Amino acid sequence: MSTPFAPPKTATLFSNWIDGSWLPGEGREIRAHNPATGQAVSVLREATQDDVRRACESAHLAFDNYWRTASGERRAEILLRASAGIRDNAEELAWYEMAESGKPYKQARAEIDRSAMLWDYAATQARSLTGESFGALGEDYLAMTLRTPIGVAAIITPWNFPFLIISQKLPFALAAGCAAVVKPSEMTSASTLLLGPILQKAGLPDGVCNILAGSGQVTGEAILRHPLTRMISFTGSTGVGKHAMKVGAEQLKKVSLELGGKNAHIVMDDADLEAALDAALHGAFLNAGQSCNQGARLLLQKGIAEEFERRFVELARRIPVGDTLRDDVLMGPIINEPQYRKILNYIETGKTEGAVLAAGGTFREVNGGRYVDPTVFTGVEPNMRIAQEEIFGPVCAILTFETLEEAFEIANATGYGLSAGIWTGNTSAALKAARRLEAGTVWVNTYLDGPAELPFGGVGASGIGREVGRMGCEEFMDVKTVQFRSGGYQPRWIGKAL
Ligand code: NDP
Repeated sequence: MSTPFAPPKTATLFSNWIDGSWLPGEGREIRAHNPATGQAVSVLREATQDDVRRACESAHLAFDNYWRTASGERRAEILLRASAGIRDNAEELAWYEMAESGKPYKQARAEIDRSAMLWDYAATQARSLTGESFGALGEDYLAMTLRTPIGVAAIITPWNFPFLIISQKLPFALAAGCAAVVKPSEMTSASTLLLGPILQKAGLPDGVCNILAGSGQVTGEAILRHPLTRMISFTGSTGVGKHAMKVGAEQLKKVSLELGGKNAHIVMDDADLEAALDAALHGAFLNAGQSCNQGARLLLQKGIAEEFERRFVELARRIPVGDTLRDDVLMGPIINEPQYRKILNYIETGKTEGAVLAAGGTFREVNGGRYVDPTVFTGVEPNMRIAQEEIFGPVCAILTFETLEEAFEIANATGYGLSAGIWTGNTSAALKAARRLEAGTVWVNTYLDGPAELPFGGVGASGIGREVGRMGCEEFMDVKTVQFRSGGYQPRWIGKAL
């Protein structure tokens, strides 16, 4: 049961969590605002280069002194206590999540539960890390591989699903035996910073996880560049991801990137249309479309296209948009003004490109919140910008196709490859889609599902590496090969020559 939480009446002052204590950053003040009201929710002091140095040194020491050698059993116990702590504080975490990112409270609360489940799962991984053994290399010869933690991981996360995304990375890093220096987005840092004391209470040694507030330009950049961070785990835009990779390359750090998407959601004539309709609406408009997994391109087979489109448009118009505290509201405001302007520009682009605006396109500013109604374009051609570029807003482009081959061609015709979905009653079409859709995840007769056992990540411009599942843990590890000879070293190199 979650502890009841009374929302603060004024903005909360947050420090940085370094070496198990709150230390005010030495940099400028940053205010995070509620996108629904414009009011300040949190006040942060940006972590400077010096703060980053302190955090990295603390992580490095904690890694070397305790965490790399802590048993899987101990790591698992701590991760399980952390998930219990997350559940205890779920109301507070969900409130900050809602207040800073502008998502409906009900959705934020569900995301906290899902996050706790990821910490539970990571605990199972801490106890199951194994290598391989090689017993057929010859007499008196045995070898094995050990998985060893990489070291201090730099973990950088975006604003759209702050707590869920840190929970897709951090518990897996900790399960692997890595220490971490974490930087959430400056717009949505509160829930991640609140993890600091939760982890300490769970028994995590001080310094193993340090959480810094600050901008990408100052704090993020310093974390990426610090020589003690040996791995970069980044979720965010493709542009900043490429930059992180370049910075990582200078010091040959391992880089794992979860980036943007322009995902195709395909509905075939023979699909369960009721289920597909709900999933298509959820896929397109969850989190006001500000989601890397958004089903931003809805591909409809000709036989059902007209009727499906009609019903999709009708239901999209009825999605409740507004007050994030109301239980029936499904879509809140857009995160900030630049993102709002970007979405409105894309709506104009869709119109000038000749697509038909079938729903939405309407927007308004109310009491400091900026809202865009669920927007649907029909008659979209695959090469239009609204079918190619990530809008990151509640805009869905509907395209039609006749054959499965044509659907694959359209679906694969962007540089992105995060996820894709197909609804069909035909097993053969489903199997072909699983192979032919170029994406890190292919959903068949479902969308946006994600059990903790399954790896998640993208191909192409959507990223490199995987998180969650066993692979998500292994991502934070190196492989060491160990070879034993017991019968003496044969043949001798120098023995015969001398
Ligand atoms: P950004 O790339 O702008 O920011 C992501 C994070 O990187 C933030 O913490 C940001 O800090 C930080 N950052 C920015 N510049 C630098 C820098 N030079 N060095 C280090 N860190 C930096 O993405 P958004 O926050 O705008 O998130 C939206 C994007 O994230 C979308 O493209 C979306 O598709 C993608 N995304 C991908 C997911 C996936 O799993 N594939 C999941 C969710 C989102 P700050 O904001 O404080 O400046």
